[in-house]
Amino acid sequence: MNSYFEMGPYSAELILPDVWHVQDATIANPAGEHHDGSFNNPSSIYVIEDDHKVLVIDAGNPHEKGALRTIVNQIAQGRVIEVAITHNHFDHVGQLADFDDCTLYLPLKDFDLTHYPNGKGIQDQDQIRLGRHTFVCIETPGHTAGSMCYYDACHHLLATGDAFGSSYVWLLFLDDVLNIYARSLEHVLGCLQEDEQVEFLCGHRYQQQIQPVKGIHPLSPKNPHMTRQYLLDMQTLVRQIQNGEATHHEFEAFGRKDDLAAYTYGQAEIDTYLAGSQPIKL
Ligand SMILES: [Zn+2]
Repeated sequence: MNSYFEMGPYSAELILPDVWHVQDATIANPAGEHHDGSFNNPSSIYVIEDDHKVLVIDAGNPHEKGALRTIVNQIAQGRVIEVAITHNHFDHVGQLADFDDCTLYLPLKDFDLTHYPNGKGIQDQDQIRLGRHTFVCIETPGHTAGSMCYYDACHHLLATGDAFGSSYVWLLFLDDVLNIYARSLEHVLGCLQEDEQVEFLCGHRYQQQIQPVKGIHPLSPKNPHMTRQYLLDMQTLVRQIQNGEATHHEFEAFGRKDDLAAYTYGQAEIDTYLAGSQPIKL
């Protein structure tokens, strides 16, 4: 199979051995708005190949029924398909119904399993064993209550969904979110230990490349290649926010400050620490 192909609304690219990145169609202005005002936010889906199974991580934005299954079938070539979801947001579960004959790994704190007959609830430190690849589930709340990362220590793969963003992170729907997020950073770094080779498989890979993304502060740094250092920078930044030393501005979700925008898009955005920038005293 070629290492890049397009099918329906998706493109698929082999980005690492055994790892396909599948993305919703990139529209002419990827960082812009559709004519109806909705945000064009292509999602990243990963397909991990193993000898007898493939693991699909996340199910992208909603498209026509069967669209994602078609491209996954093309990669799977008859192997067993399983699906792991990082969190319950519409742009990560859009095509979940394409896989209602497959095992679905769903974070227990984000999903009501009664709606998913094939769902297996997962919690922190559960394992998904494929064969050569084993993923440990790492619960990292902040973006959502149940946000789950999947870590394959042998192959240095860490799928993060939106838990730590793709260049910046939006923290949603939780009280005391900064402390919760700080604990998630500590937890994931503890699980990674000294893994300097870890490759991040984040939820919206295009955001690493395209700047400025609509609604994101122009000073937000680019992170074309997220590394363990990204998490360490986030830790530094959280400490600076808690100490009142971080550069800050009033949060606007896509230029909006109203309550609905805050509800829909988040309570806060945290960009990685800009080394060398001058902190502003609160
Ligand atoms: Zn999300």
